Amino acid sequence: MMRSADLFREAKKVIPGGVNSPVRAYQSVGLEPPFIAKAKGARVYDEDGREYIDYIGSWGPMILGQADQRVCNAVMEAAKDGLSFGAPTAREVEMARLITKMVPHVEMVRMVNSGTEAVMSAVRLARGATGRDKIVKFSGCYHGHSDPMLVKAGSGLMTAGVPSSLGVPEKAAEDTLTAEYNDLSSVRELFERYTGEIAAVIVEPVAANMGVVPPEKGFLSGLREICDQSGALLLFDEVITGFRLSKGGAQEYFGVRADLVTFGKIIGGGMPVGAYCGSRALMETVSPTGKVYQAGTLSGNPVAMAAGLAQLKILDGHPEIYEHIDNLAQRLENGLQSLVEKYRIPASVTRCGSLCCLFFREGGVRNYPEAQQCDTALFARYFKGMLRRGIYLAPSQFEAIFIGDAHTESDIDKTLQAADETFAEMKA
Ligand code: PLP
Repeated sequence: MMRSADLFREAKKVIPGGVNSPVRAYQSVGLEPPFIAKAKGARVYDEDGREYIDYIGSWGPMILGQADQRVCNAVMEAAKDGLSFGAPTAREVEMARLITKMVPHVEMVRMVNSGTEAVMSAVRLARGATGRDKIVKFSGCYHGHSDPMLVKAGSGLMTAGVPSSLGVPEKAAEDTLTAEYNDLSSVRELFERYTGEIAAVIVEPVAANMGVVPPEKGFLSGLREICDQSGALLLFDEVITGFRLSKGGAQEYFGVRADLVTFGKIIGGGMPVGAYCGSRALMETVSPTGKVYQAGTLSGNPVAMAAGLAQLKILDGHPEIYEHIDNLAQRLENGLQSLVEKYRIPASVTRCGSLCCLFFREGGVRNYPEAQQCDTALFARYFKGMLRRGIYLAPSQFEAIFIGDAHTESDIDKTLQAADETFAEMKA
């Protein structure tokens, strides 16, 4: 009997779709998910005893690898002193200090419990601080599941937001304007049409929720200029890119300043954490110093802070980690590119730092409409071949490949060997 299959059957009786987050259900690849029993370093192990090379890394946070001893020890130490107090602690101060030291232009930090919560709170702050209601987001960028962020450009640019989920009132979405990633003119058009009404532009500095789409040269700095000219705030959602592209995240990597920055899972080292950050002047508009209300029983949780602090201190003290993960990602990119050419697969590889993607579309991908042209059926065949060969990729064309410090050159080479065999099978 397959234990994962049994568990999935049982799960579907008591959890919607058997999962606590939809992508885990493997629907888009037509399979059932392996249930994960444990993980160590760059490996995950399922309930049936199969071992995989892990390229999900819990969707980003496990940048040091799974069950890192230093992070686990910090968690166990903290747990001995209590799991939650709902009161100020020394670790929160240390965490905020470390983030302000590592990330440029950040003077104050408010901890929350997820990326969704970080974005939701930062958007409220942007609206409260500017006295404006409208937010510009980019189609294909994901910012968590709060109502105003669950919007895509349903009928093209320049339209008021159309909710992409049942249960989101049109009114909650009507102030969300959608522009095209890597297209400054689409942003300018919105600013011309809604002069003086736009509170913020929110962007994933590297779009990593429609596959991986790096910003073209001038795109992020162009957003900065537009915001400066119009009095809108620039909000970098760094839930994926923060502490991954570099110690200081995308602001440091691309040399572009953001007014507000959101972080998520990576600053929790695997525990549920998020944060939003910015200048003192902006952040002090949040309660209790200011009139923008935001709160949380478990915010700054001592065990989560211990895990996050341990991870961030290691990243801060070991710049060679970034060299290692970027080099491995480059090795994967080059290898996949050669195989795509060898087998004439209609696909292209994108990469930024340690984030990679194999898009089943020729000619690269620079925005959401192009991402949507990918051959998802071909991706599903590729995914199945890789999973069978022990490569644990995200079960969707529109997710990133995450490389971490625990990966080795030999892991990458094994992965390329699996891709070689999979492509050969697909061509047969
Ligand atoms: N923002 C970005 C860029 C994300 O990638 C995600 C999740 O992957 C979120 C926000 C939401 O974070 P969470 O899933 O922790 O709520």
